[in-house]
Amino acid sequence: MGVDLALLDSTLADLGQPAFRARQVWAWAARGAAGYHEMTDLPASLRDALTERVPFSTLEVERETRSQDGTLKVLLRTHDDRKIETVLMRYKDGRGSVCLSSQVGCPLTCSFCATGKMKFARNLTAGEILDQALYFKRRSTVTNVIFMGMGEPMMNLDNVLAASERLPDLGVTHRRTAISTVGWIPGIDRLAATDMPIRLALSLHAADEDLRSRIMPVNDRYPLADVLAACERFYAVRKRQIFVEYVMLGGVNDQVQHADELAAVLDPKIFKVNLIPYNPTDSVYDGSERETIAAFRDTLEAHGVRATIRLTRGQDIDAACGQLAAKAAA
Ligand code: SAH
Repeated sequence: MGVDLALLDSTLADLGQPAFRARQVWAWAARGAAGYHEMTDLPASLRDALTERVPFSTLEVERETRSQDGTLKVLLRTHDDRKIETVLMRYKDGRGSVCLSSQVGCPLTCSFCATGKMKFARNLTAGEILDQALYFKRRSTVTNVIFMGMGEPMMNLDNVLAASERLPDLGVTHRRTAISTVGWIPGIDRLAATDMPIRLALSLHAADEDLRSRIMPVNDRYPLADVLAACERFYAVRKRQIFVEYVMLGGVNDQVQHADELAAVLDPKIFKVNLIPYNPTDSVYDGSERETIAAFRDTLEAHGVRATIRLTRGQDIDAACGQLAAKAAA
């Protein structure tokens, strides 16, 4: 990966090559090599044979877009002609954070999210997930990975974890990897049981069960009270704070009363809130006013809950949270 690792293994076996060759190829790919031709410790004949037989990436590049703030968004095409989007956010302090997609579309139907309006096609393979990160590794510094792109990572957790296992080879430690979920309880429990100290982020968006079910239908299946209990179990094992994401929808979930309700259900020792300004999608919602968002934050802080307001990035190229919909593909 960069390559399909199973295909690489069987091809190397076919070619009568020793097992360590696969590790050599992967080490080059993980460091950001652009192709087999760069792998100078492989015999030239083997480089040629691999170039012919094992595609270097499972994904083809359809288009790359650059935002005024330096954010890069790439539209990638799978072998079965599905389109996915991946985003790299670069920061002045040198960090580079890749926002990975885990599914083509999303089976959940959160009312404010553009991806939720696409038809769900399938889970991405571990190779396809890793290849998104490798795409940016070849171009830039990558220090962090967040599963906040298209799809619900906990519904494809086998592949998400298989990809995560290899991220340290790219220089991204598990502690700098985060999985964001709508609150898919079996996934939260499984993540707590792995030996990878990956961070957890919860898309919460409303503390009231009825309101949350209205804007996120998945809440009928996994009610917030049960989700928060799962998060508490996660914290008991991991001792790492959980990020709560809360998208600010004008007149829907952004009043002081909502902040009071939110503070009432969050243990400040366990949770830290990140308020997300709503990014326009084709939905019925408007974003909250700046002052409303600031007042919401102040209310949380007054209750002792730490809260920050997310800096929106890449909005001019539809790369911001909830805007990934492979529009170009339609
Ligand atoms: N399915 C997972 C992973 C996707 S993360 C999850 O929901 O957590 C994408 C984040 O962007 C989520 O927190 C989601 O709620 C948020 N989001 C979705 N639509 C948005 C929009 N239009 N504006 C701002 N944030 C949005």
